[in-house]
Amino acid sequence: MIKRRRQLGGDTRFAQASQRPPQLAQTLVGLLLWCGLISGCELLPPLTGIPQPTPEVHLLLGNPSRAVSDPNSPNNYLIMRPQYALSYNRDKGIPNWASWQLNPSWLGDLPRDPFATDTSLPATWYRVRTDDYTGSGFDRGHVVPAADRNQKPADGESVFLMTNIIPQAADNNRGPWEKLERYCRDLTKQGKELYIISGWAGSGGKGERGKKTAIARGKVAVPAATWKIVVVLNQPGLGIESIRNDTRVIAVIMPNVQGIKNDDWRSYRQSVDTVEHITGYDFLSNLPTATQTILEAKVDKR
Ligand code: MN
Ligand code: MN
Repeated sequence: MIKRRRQLGGDTRFAQASQRPPQLAQTLVGLLLWCGLISGCELLPPLTGIPQPTPEVHLLLGNPSRAVSDPNSPNNYLIMRPQYALSYNRDKGIPNWASWQLNPSWLGDLPRDPFATDTSLPATWYRVRTDDYTGSGFDRGHVVPAADRNQKPADGESVFLMTNIIPQAADNNRGPWEKLERYCRDLTKQGKELYIISGWAGSGGKGERGKKTAIARGKVAVPAATWKIVVVLNQPGLGIESIRNDTRVIAVIMPNVQGIKNDDWRSYRQSVDTVEHITGYDFLSNLPTATQTILEAKVDKR
């Protein structure tokens, strides 16, 4: 519904602009030129040659929970960084989801950073610390993986902020979850560009010290499962228009438990529809409804 309305709105604006009297258009052009000449005001971004990624690129496929960068929306709080977009949940102390582009331009070999408190959160909110996880029996699990962002120092720092971390059972994090992360990076080395959305569902996971629903004296929730959706484009820069009914989409849901370390990530494949069902989010919402219907019903078989 929202998507359709937005498209119609765009069409309407276009129609209005093209119906404007030519005199008005000329006046506007003249005004813009005059402004640029006498004041040097920046009407256009500087031509730098190489386009830099903007945070918007990480929401190419949509904003699954319609998160907003408003402190009055503390549990669906949008954080946009050059490296990724995520929805933060203050009361649970973890991100709801993160969304990011992956292609070889993000991959490097910088050493891992230390985990750090995210001081960008509103000052009155509790800010999760790295020692909130100490002794909990759960890994500090990156939602956007450290190895997906290690080309530039600022990128590496961004993924070690505690707003990108969830309590993840070691056998999930270091087992099939990590293998899928690695598989995604391998796809980019074959020339693909990926758009990845990842998060959690449910309450209560089983770590090295048993089942818990929260750690850090209740300040950090422990989810029951982790999920990931990967949309595979044939090469960097093709954009959303290149997504067709046969575009590869990989979705997985893995239990946040011990005992799965040696499992194949492929055994956890599900449809996007199932991830939408367990989370209540709408993924791929920037795609036409008909394309969503087809892509979201499939389970990857490759
Ligand atoms: Mn991990
Ligand atoms: Mn959808």
